[in-house]
Amino acid sequence: MRAAPSADLIARFAAIVGPSHALTDPLDQARYLVEWRDLYRGETPLVLRPGTTREVAAILRLAHETGTAVVPQGGNTGLVGGQTPVPGSGEIVLSLERLNRVRAVDPAGGTLIAEAGVTLEAVQAAAAEAGRLFPLTLGSQGSCRIGGNVATNAGGTAVLAYGNMRDLVLGLEVVLADGRVLNGLKRLRKDNAGYDLKQLFIGSEGTLGVVTAAALKLFPQPAETAVAFAGMATPQAALALLVRARTAAGFGLTGFELMIGRGLDFAVRHIDGARRPLACPHGWYVLVEISGNLADGGARRAMEACLTEALDAGEIEDATMAQSGAQAADFWRLRHGMSEVQKFEGGSIKHDVSVAVNEVPDFLDEAIRAVEAAFPGCRPVPFGHMGDGNIHFNVSQPVGADKAAFLAEWDRMNALVHAVVARYEGSVAAEHGVGRLKQALLEAGKDPVEIDLMRALKDALDPRGILNPGRVLADRRAD
Ligand code: FAD
Ligand code: ZN
Repeated sequence: MRAAPSADLIARFAAIVGPSHALTDPLDQARYLVEWRDLYRGETPLVLRPGTTREVAAILRLAHETGTAVVPQGGNTGLVGGQTPVPGSGEIVLSLERLNRVRAVDPAGGTLIAEAGVTLEAVQAAAAEAGRLFPLTLGSQGSCRIGGNVATNAGGTAVLAYGNMRDLVLGLEVVLADGRVLNGLKRLRKDNAGYDLKQLFIGSEGTLGVVTAAALKLFPQPAETAVAFAGMATPQAALALLVRARTAAGFGLTGFELMIGRGLDFAVRHIDGARRPLACPHGWYVLVEISGNLADGGARRAMEACLTEALDAGEIEDATMAQSGAQAADFWRLRHGMSEVQKFEGGSIKHDVSVAVNEVPDFLDEAIRAVEAAFPGCRPVPFGHMGDGNIHFNVSQPVGADKAAFLAEWDRMNALVHAVVARYEGSVAAEHGVGRLKQALLEAGKDPVEIDLMRALKDALDPRGILNPGRVLADRRAD
């Protein structure tokens, strides 16, 4: 086991950031130690809140020298336990929240440089102020921070048009495990001078380096958007609509989100003021968003054309287009509320999976059949980014069942669903990452050559294994 840092070592760390930013009192630490799903409770001797890259570098130099484990943390919205210090492990928390400056915005070059602790919402706002769009869109955008978005390669609802965070980063400033700073804040669109090192850190979940700033890509703001809500009997029909929407809108298809009818029922029951967009209930729903670069009604016409064709072909049962920005926001609120509302329906067992887009309907049929057969009365609530083949396959407990007893079945339920994912050659960590939650799954499921290469990278970049030990890869130094 690693030794917990001594009082003397804690004082040396604290001296780097000053006493008001070195938290040792459990009350002051509390918000860094609980996470959104309440799956993990953390414990740490120390939370450090550096204010500059230089301070981050000094902290890591000392951690490297003394073998102290460090857990980087941004907005603490991660869903796989990566940012929560393991009780009794002596891990210290390195919060990036005070690195919160937008360093530069360049609308002509289409770039923005933000420090790791700037919230995603603040980056979106800074881009909008300059007449540009930063397209990453997540339910957690008010709290999650750019460093966390980079570290998790965040996805969200606009990936089908703009890509994951990986596609939105031009350059990174990263503090390495030994305290050296990789000054890679390039704003180049083309650069084939050697290995693309930034990509190593994107999606590495704090295990290879600490991101302190990112150069991000900006896009033109759409001049208009059309948002529709469609109801259909099956996911097969939703796939047919996706094909039509892609054909009608091309690169203008900026959202295609699927939810099961039960998910909408939950949303209407638990979101204040939420209303059903369509008069009759349907088995499945899709929220479609089409954006246009000219304010000439083209987005609306493309949407109308694809919905009319899908209705005429008998693929969808009903559809409605938002008549105002407020109504469009109401539709999106139903979708973004999907994670939250499941909390009010008792225990929920989660899966974050992806398969090839055209196989989503068959995957859903099989996975729903499998869990309903094994857990009578359970309530599957699959929803998510159908345009990317990424489904949050969550399963709520049977009505009236015991929550703890249901949650005790987490692994058995996971095994069932992940077996279906494996048959489709999909991913069991499609969007939220691996962290601690899926660490064992990753090692069990991946090609050994891939795991060997990942270990070689970890050993090269973090030879003492101090960065987020036990996340993504097993911590081989723990015993
Ligand atoms: P944290 O939770 O603080 O950390 C996440 C991981 O990154 C940890 O392993 C941590 O150690 C590491 N880390 C954080 N900052 C740094 C840094 N500067 N350098 C190195 N490592 C770092 N995710 C999606 O992808 N798509 C969604 O649509 C989505 N929706 C969500 C909706 C809700 C309501 C919630 C609660 C979460 C959602 N998430 C989603 C998950 C989460 O918001 C993202 O993973 C987000 O990118 C995490 O950012 P954060 O700043 O909160 O990171
Ligand atoms: Zn998602």
